[in-house]
Amino acid sequence: KGILYLVATPIGNLSDFSLRAIETLKSVDKIYAEDTRNSLVLLKHYNITTKLESYHEFNQEEKTLDVVKEIEDGMKIALISDAGLPVISDPGYKIVEEASKRGLAISTIPGASAGISALIASGLAPMPYTFYGFLDSKKTKRMSSLNELKYIPHTIIFYEAPHRIMETLTDMLEVFGNRNICLARELTKTYEEYIRGTIEDVLKIEGLKGEMVLIVEGYKDTKALDANPFEKIEELISLGYK
Ligand code: SAM
Repeated sequence: KGILYLVATPIGNLSDFSLRAIETLKSVDKIYAEDTRNSLVLLKHYNITTKLESYHEFNQEEKTLDVVKEIEDGMKIALISDAGLPVISDPGYKIVEEASKRGLAISTIPGASAGISALIASGLAPMPYTFYGFLDSKKTKRMSSLNELKYIPHTIIFYEAPHRIMETLTDMLEVFGNRNICLARELTKTYEEYIRGTIEDVLKIEGLKGEMVLIVEGYKDTKALDANPFEKIEELISLGYK
């Protein structure tokens, strides 16, 4: 019987690859990968010789139904992305959506994901959290998304490219105010680093490089926190209550 395996791959350190992930990739009929050249490095490292085919942002429209058909025909298919969990800020959702609509078997082979790995080490409240992923690269869209997120009291997880981080932080400062953040860089790699501070603190740092996740503290209703509980009672007394 056909099945779709969603297989996590490492986000930097090649050792973060589970035994089950390796066994699954060796045993399936075909692996769909976001970037076959990139995945070949990993697959070679673990002697995985399974047939590899591309499934990415630009061919997903035409390929989704082919993949689903293969599963319906009884093939065991694995889906991987360049790093971490497929589907999360990576291709794959269309296949999962279609396969689940048709009642096909889907199985997850978990592993690292950059966002949740950054969240647990950030020092900011781990729950509740909102995973946002990438903001739009266009300023107007980015600002309107930030405005939608402004009053969410959850810690928020963003992905960002190094060449856009300063612009994003500047926009966040304008919309969110000077919140506490943690910029998690190069997770699981040699230069893994967590920069903790306010948005203004991080904006002072020049030349931030590498892959990065931005964890942002949620909205805090400071007026509610500062409110004097006795004021309400005094107001009631003044109105004649005893
Ligand atoms: N599917 C992946 C996952 O599960 O985390 C995310 C893929 S997304 C296209 C790539 C983004 O994830 C990068 O731009 C960066 O924001 C984040 N990322 C991936 N690997 C990372 C790492 N080792 N350290 C920090 N951020 C990372």
